[in-house]
Amino acid sequence: MPEIPDLEGYAAYFNKRLPGLTVRRVDAPIAWMVRAGREEFEERLEGHIFLPVRRRAKLLLFPFQCGDNLVVHAMLSGRYQYAEPSAKRPAMTAWVLGLDNDMELRYFDQRRMGRTYLVRDGEFAEKVPRWSEMGPDVLSPELTEDEFVRRLSPMRGMIKNIITNERCIAGIGNAYSDEVLWEARLHPFRKRTDISEEQIRELYRSIRRVMEWATPIVAELMEAKGLPAKMYRDHLRVHHKADGTCPRDGHRISAITSGGRETNFCRACQE
Ligand SMILES: [Zn+2]
Repeated sequence: MPEIPDLEGYAAYFNKRLPGLTVRRVDAPIAWMVRAGREEFEERLEGHIFLPVRRRAKLLLFPFQCGDNLVVHAMLSGRYQYAEPSAKRPAMTAWVLGLDNDMELRYFDQRRMGRTYLVRDGEFAEKVPRWSEMGPDVLSPELTEDEFVRRLSPMRGMIKNIITNERCIAGIGNAYSDEVLWEARLHPFRKRTDISEEQIRELYRSIRRVMEWATPIVAELMEAKGLPAKMYRDHLRVHHKADGTCPRDGHRISAITSGGRETNFCRACQE
């Protein structure tokens, strides 16, 4: 699933290319993945001019000058392609925007779990599911260290589940939660109630450090190698590194799978 560094990478990639371009053609081969409906999607988007792309939590927003926005929740397997019209369309291409620079922006989704919404400015809460239930984005200025402590303090349960709960704080998924907890030296299954306030503050700083570290790495990979079919993850220190060792102490990385998702951590340095 695309997470913050991936989505920030997409935003940087698209912002070098899309702003100012006009949508000339619209095609929605898998129309039900577009919640506006095929006709409205195809008719309404034509002639729209791109503004800078932005991100909220795991959603990517493509705003247009006229006040419409495409909001994409890519879920597990939603991906983008920016290609010439003659380039082969990937399987499960859900929508295609033909642009006035003779390129196409395409969205495809192998598992067809992602959704695209066409929303007017000011209608996000009404049109995008769970928009208003979402907690603050972990990189938003409003989520200060004190606010982070305040939001986590009523939460019960394991710390990994809490930081991936978008009602509490939004934007962290399975891969980067492992990285953040490794950075903070916290065991992913530790109960929040057993963690000191100083450690929660260190966790906040670890989230910022990990995102600031990973985002330029992913952005550079996207420029160098192109938009990925599979998220760029080789740089991660513990996530999906169960056959490797902890970069901090050389201890073997542990893996525990539950509910279809793997959690990786180091038993030596994460308590
Ligand atoms: Zn370690």
